[in-house]
Amino acid sequence: MTDVQAAERRSVWLHELTWQEVEAYLKERQTIIVPFGTTEQHGPVGPLGLDGYVAIGLAEDAARRAGVLVAPPLWYGDSSHHLGFPGTISLRTETLIQVFYDIVRSLAKHGFRKILALNGHKMTNLAALTSAARNIREFELPHVLVAVADPMYLARGIAGQLKETNEHHAGELEVSHVYYLFPETIRIDKISDAHCDFDAVFGPFGNGDLFGGGGRDFIEQPWTSEEQRRIAPAGQFSSTLAVSKEKGKAYHEYMVERLVEFLTWWEHYEGPLGSVPPTERVS
Ligand SMILES: [Zn+2]
Repeated sequence: MTDVQAAERRSVWLHELTWQEVEAYLKERQTIIVPFGTTEQHGPVGPLGLDGYVAIGLAEDAARRAGVLVAPPLWYGDSSHHLGFPGTISLRTETLIQVFYDIVRSLAKHGFRKILALNGHKMTNLAALTSAARNIREFELPHVLVAVADPMYLARGIAGQLKETNEHHAGELEVSHVYYLFPETIRIDKISDAHCDFDAVFGPFGNGDLFGGGGRDFIEQPWTSEEQRRIAPAGQFSSTLAVSKEKGKAYHEYMVERLVEFLTWWEHYEGPLGSVPPTERVS
């Protein structure tokens, strides 16, 4: 058995391997997934680490099937709007950008050339992750491909068929997903119809469904943590009454399949212009 085979058999997680196993992996593959979660309130039903569980579950299953590695997950994210609820710990957007920069810089130094950020926090970490990806490629590491995946975009093809209500923070699909993967973390006895009335709070351009239900046009109107506690006092923004493991399984399997499809395609993709040689750092 080669070192690569031995490592694959032992774990997809970088932090569970030795440096020699990682070195052997890099001789064959240069792809890695980096899962991003948060520590933020997820209503009465979900644990504060829910987004991390989403990212870990997706990353582990996709990596196993695609034969790639996963970096240790980041359990903190951009969650300032949840700070009105006990337990939430937030990085500032600029901190998260720097954390992702440093992770990419370190991985690139060892020879990783394809780095997929997997965001378990639907939408909110995206501002940091996508700007970090664009800037580090533009100004430092153009030869390293960096991509960002998020359930909000990845599950577009199935979310509308699965969910029975609008989906927002700590809602039906997000909770179903973790109820399927890590049932012991979910307080299923606390499901309720508690929700934020987006029309009343944000007017005709509110975005009450992160999966685009109704196809409504919207305009982003950021709110503070104090406002959030008032507009969604239970913490969840949409109903959890229709949560189920079956929905979570379908949602999970769909996204894992899409991730494997992407990783398989990405394996031979060299960027829009083909392989770009490493260049000097320009800033
Ligand atoms: Zn979440």
